[in-house]
Amino acid sequence: MRQWGTMTATQTTVRVHNFSAGPGALPLPVLERVRADLLNHAGSGMSVMEMSHRSAWFEEIIQGAENDLRGLLGIPADHAVLFLQGGATLQFAMLPMNLRPAGASADYILTGHWSQGALKEAEKLGRVRVAASSEATQFDRIPSGEEMRLDPQAAYLHFTSNNTIYGTQWSSEPVPPPGVPLACDASSDFLSRPLEVGKYGAIYAGAQKNLGPAGVTVVVIRRDLLSRTPAHLPALLDYRLLAEHKSLYNTPPAFAIYVAGLVLGWLRAEGGLSAAARRNEAKAALVYRAIDESGGFYRGHAHPTSRSRMNVTFRLPSAQAEKAFLTQAAEEGLEGLKGHRSVGGLRASLYNALPLSSVDALAQFMADFRRKNG
Ligand code: PMP
Repeated sequence: MRQWGTMTATQTTVRVHNFSAGPGALPLPVLERVRADLLNHAGSGMSVMEMSHRSAWFEEIIQGAENDLRGLLGIPADHAVLFLQGGATLQFAMLPMNLRPAGASADYILTGHWSQGALKEAEKLGRVRVAASSEATQFDRIPSGEEMRLDPQAAYLHFTSNNTIYGTQWSSEPVPPPGVPLACDASSDFLSRPLEVGKYGAIYAGAQKNLGPAGVTVVVIRRDLLSRTPAHLPALLDYRLLAEHKSLYNTPPAFAIYVAGLVLGWLRAEGGLSAAARRNEAKAALVYRAIDESGGFYRGHAHPTSRSRMNVTFRLPSAQAEKAFLTQAAEEGLEGLKGHRSVGGLRASLYNALPLSSVDALAQFMADFRRKNG
C-alpha cells in the first residue's frame, strides 16, 4: 500500500472548507504527494508534466490508474476504460456519434440542465426521444418507473445519475427495455458509491468532482458496442480507435491522469467505494438534517425521495438572507456555497474528498445563522 502524507497544522489552517461543485476539493494527502513528487517523479528526474507519454514511467501511471479504477468499480473484462479529453460535454456528442446507428433514435431521460445539454447535442446529429422528464416541477425529482415511455428499439437509453445543479440523484438506475444499452452521465457522482458496471453499456464522467483535476474524462464502455462506431468519424471522436490505442492515440492529459491515479489509490486506501458511500451518506444526512430541522427557514429544492448525496441545494427566506449567508460563511472559511446561476439559492457539494469535519462546520454554521436571522 502506498504511504500517504500527514497534514501539518499550517496546511490545515490555510485550507478552506471547500463546497465547490466542480472542480471540487481534492484529498489533501494527494495534493501533498503531488507536491513531494513534483520535481522528480519516481526517480525519473522529471515531473509527470515533462515526460513522454510513451515512457515506462507514464505507462505505469496510466495502467495503474486503469487497474485501480477496475478494482474499485469491479469493471468486467468486457468493458473498456478510456481516458479522454473534452469533458463530459464532448461525450454528449461522442456517444450518439458512436452508438446511434444512422436512422436510429436514442432515448433521453431529462432530469436537469446537463441531461438537457446531452439531449441537445444528440439532437443536432440525429433522432432522439424524451422518455421522461421532471421539467414541469423544476427538476425537483427523479421520474418514477411508471412515468417512463421507453422505446424498445432505441439505440440506447441515456440518463444523468446525479443532477449537479438541481441536487437530485437516482437511487438506482432506470431499467431499459431488453437489448437497449444503458448510457449514463455520471460526472457528479462517479466513485461516490458502488456501481454495477455490468448493467451499463456506457458510463462517462468528467474527472473534476470525485476523480481528479479537470482535463480528463473517463469513459467505461462495453466492448461489443465499439462495433457500432461508424467508419467516417474523426480519430479523436472514434471510441473504437481510442480503445484500440488504449487512450494513447495522441498525447493524453498526462498530468490529470497522474493525479486521478493518486486519487484512486487514496480511495482504495480509504476502504473503497462502500466505505466512501457510507461517509457520503453521513455527510449528506448532516446537511439535510440542518434543513429539515430549521422549521422552514431553509427550504430544500429536491423532493426528499430524490435528494442527492453529492450536491445539496436549498434556499433561504430571501435573496438578501442568501447573500448574507454567503458572506458570513466565507468569513468562517466555508467556500463554494453559491447555487448555480440557473436555480439560484445555495448549494453544498459534498464530494469524496470533503471531510466530515467540513460538513460539521457547515451544519453548525447553518444552525447559528438561523438562530440569529430566523
Ligand atoms: N454533466 C454533469 C452531470 C455535470 O455536472 C457537468 C459539469 N458540472 C457536466 C456534465 C459538464 O462537464 P464538463 O465541464 O466536464 O464538460
